[in-house]
Amino acid sequence: MSTQHEIPSYLTPHEIGPWGVYLEQIDRVTPHLGSLARWVETLKRPKRILVVDVPIERDDGTIAHFEGYRVQHNTSRGPGKGGVRFHQDVTLSEVMALAAWMTIKNAAVNVPYGGAKGGIRVNPKLLSEGELMRMTRRYTSEINIIIGPTKDIPAPDVNTNEKVMAWMMDTYSMNQGSTASGVVTGKPISLGGSLGRHEATGRGVFVVGCEAAAKRGLDIRGARVAVQGFGNVGGIAARLFAEAGARIVAVQDHVATLVREGGIDIPALQAHSSAHGSIEGFSGADALKERSQFWEVDCDIMVPAALEQQITADNANRIRASIILEGANGPTTPAADDILHDKGVLIVPDVIANAGGVTVSYFEWVQDFSSFFWTEEEINLRLTRIMREAFAAIWQLAEEKQVSLRTAAFIVACTRVLRAREMRGLYP
Ligand code: GLU
Repeated sequence: MSTQHEIPSYLTPHEIGPWGVYLEQIDRVTPHLGSLARWVETLKRPKRILVVDVPIERDDGTIAHFEGYRVQHNTSRGPGKGGVRFHQDVTLSEVMALAAWMTIKNAAVNVPYGGAKGGIRVNPKLLSEGELMRMTRRYTSEINIIIGPTKDIPAPDVNTNEKVMAWMMDTYSMNQGSTASGVVTGKPISLGGSLGRHEATGRGVFVVGCEAAAKRGLDIRGARVAVQGFGNVGGIAARLFAEAGARIVAVQDHVATLVREGGIDIPALQAHSSAHGSIEGFSGADALKERSQFWEVDCDIMVPAALEQQITADNANRIRASIILEGANGPTTPAADDILHDKGVLIVPDVIANAGGVTVSYFEWVQDFSSFFWTEEEINLRLTRIMREAFAAIWQLAEEKQVSLRTAAFIVACTRVLRAREMRGLYP
């Protein structure tokens, strides 16, 4: 990292991790913020951090404790908003960065939210359904003091889904004494969820992917796409690209890496993955032994849609794609960003590329408040329009200022957040 950052006392130096990446991104945008730079320190400090103990009784009668977090990074433009992640590698640094990226993302696509994120350090695949439910309910009760439909609205993220959202909504509602459907988004449709929400993040990736391809004169029909992550984001983006005539030449999940020059049959791979919990063992493609070989696959579009810090100075030079669509949050380190930029690779940053999920979360929240539900067609049309407009605005600014799309997106977003900060003024 080029600059020395003040490390908060609650993070040990080796834990700076993704939060350090985020701080570096803020440093890069600061010279472009004019007089608003006066407020930039606001963005370098989360507003509120809650660390909770989540004890549960295991099925065998023993007691297990998990560490849970909810970080509200900024609420200048509206309530906190962002997902909840269950993963064995979750750290406070990671949740802080993810919360901050939500602030930037929500401002970049102009939905009226601040940024927040939560997580539990747990491998949910090792829990039974009952244990998962007890853990989710206890976590929700512990963070109950800071969440709510007008305060902070959780949603799904890595390893959480509609079922987890239903338990969170129920737990919060039981604590309140009345049903509060707007406390979480990404709920089942029958509990006030929105049509199109499940697919929204992947659809958003696809929409900005088409825009980026058009700018580069690349025809989506026949384009070769490689996808890292085959969950809610990567799996759906892969399907939409395939339906549009692209060839999905590589897919990697947490277990295996598959390649097929002629294109992988995505519906068949999805069926295999749902049945076996992974893409491993799928007969319709060849498996690569070395995970790192994924980065060398000959392709036009690469979609990192798994976890943070995947594209680093170590593998950036091996990437052959001309377009990278960041389906994951924070998949590219600043050093890798520079290498790819010098190679002329077009990176559509996470804060735009994966903003489709929170955009439809916003639609869901609005529908819950008004108890009036929209058609899927209406939702997809509005989503597509917001994604295209956000992409176009950021593209134009990047051209004007001769900066990357990431810096342009951060300029737009930080300006919105800090303008709100300035107009509200400091309390008291
Ligand atoms: N977890 C998703 C994200 O990282 C969605 C957040 C939301 O809908 O609040 O953008």
